[in-house]
Parts: sequence; C-alpha cells; structure tokens
Amino acid sequence: MNKPETRPVIGLTPDIGETQARPGRPPLPRYELKQAYCEAVRAAGGLPIVLPYSDDIDAIASLLSLCEGVVITGGGFDIPPDYYGEAHHPRLGPLHPERSRFERLLVRAALARELPLLGICGGMQALAVELGATLIQDLESQLAGALEHQQKNSPGESGHTVQIDAGSLLARAARTTLLEVNSTHHQAVREPGRARVIARAPDGVIEAIEGPGRFALGVQWHPELMPGAQQLSIYRALVQAAART
Ligand code: MN
Repeated sequence: MNKPETRPVIGLTPDIGETQARPGRPPLPRYELKQAYCEAVRAAGGLPIVLPYSDDIDAIASLLSLCEGVVITGGGFDIPPDYYGEAHHPRLGPLHPERSRFERLLVRAALARELPLLGICGGMQALAVELGATLIQDLESQLAGALEHQQKNSPGESGHTVQIDAGSLLARAARTTLLEVNSTHHQAVREPGRARVIARAPDGVIEAIEGPGRFALGVQWHPELMPGAQQLSIYRALVQAAART
C-alpha cells in the first residue's frame, strides 16, 4: 500500500452560488469555490478541502480539528456593516449573511487556537473586522484620490503595486518589499483595529495585514490568480506554517 499523503489539510470557505432552479422547482442554493484557490493550495504543498457553513460553534470546532490551516476566500459580496458598527452606505454591495456569520465564527475560532489562517480579498476584510477594524464601504465615493481598485484588465495581470513592510510575514514570504498585484475590490480596511498594516497601495489603501498569534495573514488581492513564484509564496507560507501545527 502506498504511504498516505502527508500534506497539511487546508480548509477553504466557499461562496453561495446562484440558484439555478428549473421552472416550477424550488431554488437550491449551492456552494461554489473558484478552482484557482484549490490549485494554489495544492501547488503550495497543501491538501485543499471545502468547509460547509455552520452557525454551531461546536460544529465549527470539529471542522477546524480536521484542518491544519484555513483560507478565508473572497467573493462578490460585502461584510454587513453592523459587524463594525456602521450604517449601510448607499453603495454597499450585496450581502451574504449566512456566509458572513460562518466566517466570523470560523475566524474567531481559528485565531483562538492559533490555526494558521490566510484571508484573501474579502477574507482579509473578515480577518480585519474580527480584529476590530472598520471598512471603507466604497473606495470610489469615500476615498478622494483613490486609484482604480476594480481593474478592467485580467486579474492574471497587475492592477497596481504594493509597498510591503520589511520584516513582515509577507516580505519574508515573497522576499520583496515591492510587488505587482491585481485589484478587484471596492472596499478596504479603514481603521485596522488590532491588525498590523503590512502593505499599502500607492494611494495609501491598506493591502495586507497581519493578525496576532502564529500565522494570520490577509492580502487584499488574489495571488492565486497571478502567475509567478512570489505570488505562490503567499500560499506556501500558509502551508509551511500549517505543516508545523
Ligand atoms: Mn487594490
């Protein structure tokens, strides 16, 4: 018999997909997850698994006991502003309340047990909000002089650069302090709370954070959609931290 795989298990949060009911049948919500996330985890040496939603903290603890690391993924939705004590801005995007509730509990539980965690795009915002951050609900209307953060070109290409703090998790992983990144977000972290800001775009927008504990990293872009070893190194850093769990 072959030796079983010993890759660190990395749990990923899925999005809620469009319901595609046939006429006359009830809608059936479905989980969906871009394959690129799983491919990046695998390319980085991890074993990706999907984490179905729950609002039961015991069930979430059981899910996390199966994982050596987690990725909070992004999606075309916004975190409910009441999570950070604000009213809805007119340009707030769609909400996925069931997903946001799950991710809030999942991030909380992962931080409590110092399980290595990587937050991507909206996943970084979920990490930040759990650490007491507030968000800019709409960059274009709320931040004078903001760059275009919803690039029109492919997310496989750069949208802007980020300047990374030397000595941060991210700088050590990517071995650089200047990185070309894609940009597909209309919100961003405003006040970081207990999160440490470790990268900014040229217009000052917060593009990466670190949380407390062993490994909690959030990036505002999608490294899994860009080519190159520097982008993959972000997933590698997660998997390497997970391997030490
Ligand atoms: Mn950006």
